Amino acid sequence: MGSIGADGPRVLIVGAGFGGLQAALSLARAKPPAQVLVLDRHTYHTFTPLLYQVATAALEAEQIAYPVRAIFRRWPNVECRVTEVSGVDLVSRLVQTDGGAIPYDYLILAAGSVTSFFGVPGVAETSYHLRDLPEALALRNRLLTLFERAAEAPESERRTRLNLLVVGGGPTGVELAGAISELSREILAHDFPGLRPEDVGVTLIEAGGRLLAPFRPRLCSAALSALQQRGVKVLLRSQVETVDRKGVHLTDGTTIETSLLMWAAGVRAADLARSLTSYPASSGRVSVLPTLQLPDYPEVYVIGDMAEVRQGTAVLPMLAPVAIQEGRQAANNVVRQIAGTPARPFRYIDRGTMATIGRSSAVVQAGPLSLAGFSAWVAWLTLHLVELIGYRNRVLVLVNWAWEYLFFQRAVRVVVEPAERPRRQDA
Ligand SMILES: Cc1cc2nc3c(=O)[nH]c(=O)nc-3n(C[C@H](O)[C@H](O)[C@H](O)COP(=O)(O)OP(=O)(O)OC[C@H]3O[C@@H](n4cnc5c(N)ncnc54)[C@H](O)[C@@H]3O)c2cc1C
Repeated sequence: MGSIGADGPRVLIVGAGFGGLQAALSLARAKPPAQVLVLDRHTYHTFTPLLYQVATAALEAEQIAYPVRAIFRRWPNVECRVTEVSGVDLVSRLVQTDGGAIPYDYLILAAGSVTSFFGVPGVAETSYHLRDLPEALALRNRLLTLFERAAEAPESERRTRLNLLVVGGGPTGVELAGAISELSREILAHDFPGLRPEDVGVTLIEAGGRLLAPFRPRLCSAALSALQQRGVKVLLRSQVETVDRKGVHLTDGTTIETSLLMWAAGVRAADLARSLTSYPASSGRVSVLPTLQLPDYPEVYVIGDMAEVRQGTAVLPMLAPVAIQEGRQAANNVVRQIAGTPARPFRYIDRGTMATIGRSSAVVQAGPLSLAGFSAWVAWLTLHLVELIGYRNRVLVLVNWAWEYLFFQRAVRVVVEPAERPRRQDA
């Protein structure tokens, strides 16, 4: 174990996601540099915007992940530890982990969010979701296995075996539905010559009146027609009431049978937020001051998906750029506090949002600019390549994308089930 905290104040960061990573990098570069310890349950940082591509066999898991230790290799004042954080003792200034309690002088909580089932009975037990790499790999395995089984089934049963259902018409649901439809109809159809395109059904259910609700109406309509062109059946104003083994039951009494339910209807703050119940906000988030500090504990910052930050009357969305900018601000404020100057309020600069629907199709909204179609797709590809961590990952992702574009092939159409581990060696 290193000597972090031996001299100077110790800054503990929980979470090596978008917010935590940015906070640690800003602190690493600060003058004088703070002593930083980053805690995460994984050894890697995940680039979540491309998770759906892992789930739909377009990219390998390692291409959208980067080892946290490698990121901080050049910074001797930043140490990393893989551990599960279970709570925070604000009074004693301790973070509880599965390896014991760790003291801090300053704390930045950036543990992100988890899938929200909104209390709908049966969803948690029956659905696949997409919040991290293990979940993306589980979904990929299930999707590819369904095709294997359907190919062996009698013709009359194939459609029921390939009834694929996505719930949630936000960016994740739209991207997933578009990618699954393309995977099924354009790529797997060639691998399974016995299956016909009409054997596969992809349905997207959204409770609201339009897809991609935060986007301008013109872009929402463009996304809807792009999905429909890809054969996705879109049901708007359709709310899920319960789910059981038979299928999904809507509030209007309709039942939709499905062989694969993918739940992309929303997220809530990570469970760690429950240890800060004195500062409740919507979606289980933590209500913080404009400086991102906890009201009674100025040495504690909460950022990213965990924090509810208001700008004017609006609550900032759960998005990567919000977490990144908050991470930078929290780090700057810690440096200011160490220097004896007051923390500054956070101000989010919105540079725009985008979502992709599939090959040659995306929507982009940036300031007064609205783009849909091929130009938006090129902008989406370029930005995601630039933002990926690591040159190697960028090159590999570019090669995979080019290969798919030119040859209608997805590189990762393999089912890799995790093996049983020998228990005695699991320390
Ligand atoms: C499928 C998907 C697609 C998305 N697409 C986009 C997009 O296109 N554009 C966009 O702007 N945003 C997108 N988002 C949202 C974006 O990922 C989040 O807003 C952003 O990651 C929030 O950053 P964060 O630092 O708060 O949390 P995260 O980046 O989620 O990081 C949280 C970290 O905390 C760790 N952690 C959590 N709990 C514990 C614990 N108890 N102990 C130890 N470690 C813990 C996790 O392992 C993780 O590394 C997407 C999200 C998902 C799930």
